Amino acid sequence: MKTIGLLGGMSWESTQGYYKAINEGVKQALGGLHSAQIALYSVDFEPIEKLQHAGDWPGTAKILAAAAKNIQAAGADVLLICTNTMHKVAPQIEAELQIPLLHIADATAASLQQAGIQTVGLLGTAFTMEQDFYKGRLTENHGLKVLVPEEQDRAIVHRVIYDELCLGTINPDSRAEYLRIIEALAAAGAEAVILGCTEIGMLVSQSDTRVRLFDTTAIHAQKAVEFALG
Ligand code: GLU
Repeated sequence: MKTIGLLGGMSWESTQGYYKAINEGVKQALGGLHSAQIALYSVDFEPIEKLQHAGDWPGTAKILAAAAKNIQAAGADVLLICTNTMHKVAPQIEAELQIPLLHIADATAASLQQAGIQTVGLLGTAFTMEQDFYKGRLTENHGLKVLVPEEQDRAIVHRVIYDELCLGTINPDSRAEYLRIIEALAAAGAEAVILGCTEIGMLVSQSDTRVRLFDTTAIHAQKAVEFALG
């Protein structure tokens, strides 16, 4: 079994989900007392969030590349960045490593393509919904058509991530808002919706809606298990 490197803490609430899903995946595949070999480096999110909102992406890249090198030195065979947003600086992190990076957007696109989805809605931070590092990768590299919520709704999705989900707060009113926004994306033509922020699965699950959901945390974790056991 290969060792999975996790660059986590963004937020730690969602990194718990990765740790659980990866261990469950390995247990399911191998049985008995088997569990995953994981090298986890969990950062302090507060300074990173400050740099994000100040637009200092090189500053975030510096912190994350140093952490990723520690993960590699700890014996990881692959790196997962446990946040969609920080894939903005994935190229800078990847450039510092010898081990491969398992990109969250590529993993998600593969699942969508397997399901025959061509037009998809995207929920995530404003960075993820509005900038090209994520949406552009889905459209240009994978040929998907990507729909995002209207501006006001993007602001709601973004606020709930940072002010609630990253702090572990689950608010039923916010769930209702997310479900309304998911329905609006479906009405606009989305065949499915990407939960493109690793905390959204804490708030919304498939049983809440008839719209097909693709949870990036679950998909990314599953791909890591396949890599480790493949
Ligand atoms: N975990 C989130 C994501 O998947 C947001 C936190 C962050 O900004 O990294 O995008």
